[in-house]
Amino acid sequence: MTNLAQTPLSDRLRTLVDTVQHNERTLRRFQNVELRLIGSQDFSSFLDTLFCHLPQEFALASVRLWLDDRAPMLLELLEPGALQALGQTDLKTSREGGLAAQRLCAEGRPWLGQVRELDERACRAFFGEDDLPASAIVLPLAVGDNVSGYLCLGSDDPARFGDGMATDILERFASIVTASLDNVAHRERLKQLGMTDALTGLANRRYFDERLREEIMRAVRYAVPVACLFIDIDSFKRINDTYGHQTGDRALAAVAACVRQQVRLGDTVARYGGEEFAALLQGDRSDALTVAERVRLAVEKLDLRDDHGERIALTVSIGVAARTIAGAPADTATLGRAMMDEADRAMYQAKRNGRNRIEAMVQAAGDHVQRQ
Ligand code: GH3
Ligand code: MG
Ligand code: MG
Repeated sequence: MTNLAQTPLSDRLRTLVDTVQHNERTLRRFQNVELRLIGSQDFSSFLDTLFCHLPQEFALASVRLWLDDRAPMLLELLEPGALQALGQTDLKTSREGGLAAQRLCAEGRPWLGQVRELDERACRAFFGEDDLPASAIVLPLAVGDNVSGYLCLGSDDPARFGDGMATDILERFASIVTASLDNVAHRERLKQLGMTDALTGLANRRYFDERLREEIMRAVRYAVPVACLFIDIDSFKRINDTYGHQTGDRALAAVAACVRQQVRLGDTVARYGGEEFAALLQGDRSDALTVAERVRLAVEKLDLRDDHGERIALTVSIGVAARTIAGAPADTATLGRAMMDEADRAMYQAKRNGRNRIEAMVQAAGDHVQRQ
């Protein structure tokens, strides 16, 4: 009797464990694709991830992306010449495609089901003359009510995408695609404006100073804090002297990528000078100190090798400055310079105190600035 009663329970448990393990594997695969999307340096590698990596990882028959070439951020990316140069036939921009997707995704909800149920225009917009997949999901790429595109995933399995399927994971994925697209469009725009540093792919100082002013204006308007980090590689001259300039360049690019990974997608990181970087963060002093410590640790752990495979140890010294600007609108350019000066002085203090460390100046009552 007891055995009979226990069997279904253990079966149920096993099924439950299987489901949990399956979900975990799925999440991990999503995470892989998401990290690639977030890290995309340019539009073409962003599209490669969607069109090559995503279908492989999830055994999809097709991935199609429709983007609105009237969206301000996408204007230049999707300009006919640029599109032709990309040569990606899975990327669509036709007006009919957008209208068809809009009809499918009423109220911004994903559409999913059997492709043969779709009207002919929608089919043509997404799949052209190709073989149709059996089932598909169309996910809006949107921030609030602002839809900039649709992502369509197709499967040869008619039951893969259908009624009753939970779409929360895929919707979350769509929001990451949207944020990454915005990020990549931004990067491409910086390149066009000559505001990127070629060696590291980061924004340059000119761009950083402009963003700092914008961020200070935002901080004044919404009474939110703003912070910046001044990051200087320790004894970098010795890296060049020991391993040569080329390896030095490689080290610079590695540190740049490492800093980039430690901040949020919307934060700005720039190459501020030779072996100096600056980061602009939305947050207060304590948030900035946390990020600074993350950056310090990540650089310390970087696994960079010289031409003989020997590890090259790298560290950084970081100065932190943060402000909550109360009251009257300030002269943003002066305030920005003052913040960077303060972060720079704090960074020098970190050098004096032994390097591979973080310092911040405390703004005391009045204008007197003292070290913490
Ligand atoms: P500290 O810990 O005090 O910052 O010492 P440091 O050696 O890092 O500082 P210093 O300012 O004396 O030297 C900075 C070095 O960075 C000197 C310069 O040759 C090197 N550098 C600047 N830009 C580049 C670059 O684009 N590539 C390479 N390889 N080296 C660079
Ligand atoms: Mg320096
Ligand atoms: Mg240095």
